[in-house]
Amino acid sequence: MSQPSGAIITAVRSAGVVGSGGGGFPTHVKLAANVDTVIANGSECEPLLASDKALLKENPTLVIDGLRIAMEATGATKGIIAIKGHYRDVVAALGPHLPSDRSIGIFELENYYPAGDEFLTVYDATGRAIPEGGLPLDVGVVVANVLTLAQVSHAVNGKPVTERPVTITGSVRTPMVATIPVGTPYKDAIAMAGGTLEADDVLLDGGPMMGCVVEDVNRGIAKTTSGIIALPADHIIVRTRQTTISQMVKKSKAACCQCFRCTDLCPRNLIGHSLYPHMTMRTIDYNLAEPVDHITSAFLCSQCGVCELVACDFMILSPRKIYAEYRKALIDRGIRNPHRKTASPLPELAYRKVPISLILKKLDLQRFAKPAPSIGYRSVSMVRIPLDRHAGAAALPVTAVGQTVRMGDVIAASPEDFLGSVCHASIAGKVTDVASDWIEIQGNQS
Ligand code: SF4
Ligand code: SF4
Repeated sequence: MSQPSGAIITAVRSAGVVGSGGGGFPTHVKLAANVDTVIANGSECEPLLASDKALLKENPTLVIDGLRIAMEATGATKGIIAIKGHYRDVVAALGPHLPSDRSIGIFELENYYPAGDEFLTVYDATGRAIPEGGLPLDVGVVVANVLTLAQVSHAVNGKPVTERPVTITGSVRTPMVATIPVGTPYKDAIAMAGGTLEADDVLLDGGPMMGCVVEDVNRGIAKTTSGIIALPADHIIVRTRQTTISQMVKKSKAACCQCFRCTDLCPRNLIGHSLYPHMTMRTIDYNLAEPVDHITSAFLCSQCGVCELVACDFMILSPRKIYAEYRKALIDRGIRNPHRKTASPLPELAYRKVPISLILKKLDLQRFAKPAPSIGYRSVSMVRIPLDRHAGAAALPVTAVGQTVRMGDVIAASPEDFLGSVCHASIAGKVTDVASDWIEIQGNQS
C-alpha cells in the first residue's frame, strides 16, 4: 500500500538510516528529493566484499520493497537495480520478484572498478552525466545502496538500524559474511572469522581500495562498515595507507615523472570532470599555487584510489592523498567547490575501465579472493556504538552510564536543525560508558 512521502521520510529519519555503502549520508534527506529514477546500487565494486551480494541473494524482496518505497517518496516512476552482470545467481534471485508493471528493472554493470561510484553507476545505467560538483539529483536520479534500501523497508515497519551484514575476509582463517550489531568491536568480528592469520595483520574498515586502517580494534563497527579486511602488515595497500602526507610530498618531488597515467585512468576525469591528478602533483613538486584549478579540483576527487593503487603502481605516489589534504585545507579556509562545469564523458571511458581481475592481481589480493559464505546473525556481549560515522553533525548522547536500554532505544541524536542521524541501542543491556564519539553497552547476557 502506498504511503505519503512525508511519513516515509519521518520513518526513515527516526530509524537512523544512512548510506550503508560507505558515505553515511542521511537517507531521509535523499528521499526528500523529487526525481524520475531511483537506482538501487548493488554493484559492490570493491574487490573481496560480498555482503550486498549475499543480501540480494537471500532477501531480494526486502531490497525491491525498499526501492519501491524510495520511488514512492521521491515520485520516481522508474527503479533500476544496478548489479554486476556476471553475478548470474543474483540476477536469477531477483528476476522472479520484479513487479510485472516493469517499473523496476535490472541493469547489468560490467565487472570494473569503480562501477559503484554513483557518478559512474548513474552514467552506465541511465546515460546521464552528473555535472562537476553535482549530485545524481541534478540529473533526476537518487542512488541508494541495496542494504540502505532494505533498511528503508524495515524503517517504515518501525525497525531501526541496529545491525548490518559485514564481509570479514582477507588474512583470516574463515572468511564470511556475518550480520552483526552496529558497534560490534572489530576484534570480536575478526574472532568470529577465526582470527587473523598473523598476529600483526592490519585491519581495514571497508574495501581494499577505499577502506581506512582500523587504528583501534576495540572500537565498534559503524552503520557504514561494509567489510573488515585483514591484510599483512607489509602489504602494499597497508604501506600506502600508512604513508604520511609529508612522506608522500617528499616522494612526489623526487619521483613523479609526469607520465600522466593517473589522469588517463582517473574515473572522474574520464566522466568529463576537470580533474587532472598529474597536474596537481606538479603543484606539489614545484610548490605552485597556480593554476588554482589544480588545487580546487580536490573537490572533484572521489577518493577511489585508482590513481595511487592502479595507475602509479611503479612510483607508488598518491594523488588521492594529496587531494584529501587539499580538500581539508580548502574547507578549513571556508573555500567552496568552484567547479560546476557540465560533464561530457570522454570516448576513452569505454575502454579505460579497470577490471577487478587486474586489481586482484596488481594488488596481490588474489590469494584472499576466497568464498565468504553468509552465516546469518551473530550476537555479541558488548558494543561500542560510534556517534560520528555518518555525514553531518555527530550524534549527541541522550543516555547516561548505568541506564538500562532495550534493543532499538534511541541513545544519541544529531541536533534537530543539522544534517545528521539518530543512533539506537544495538543490543539490550546497560550503558557502561559514554564517550564523546561512542557509547558502550554491556549486554544482558554478559
Ligand atoms: S603521480 Fe604517478 S602516475 Fe601520476 S604523473 Fe606522477 S608518476 Fe605518473
Ligand atoms: S582518487 Fe585518484 S583516480 Fe580516483 S577520482 Fe581521485 S584523482 Fe581520480
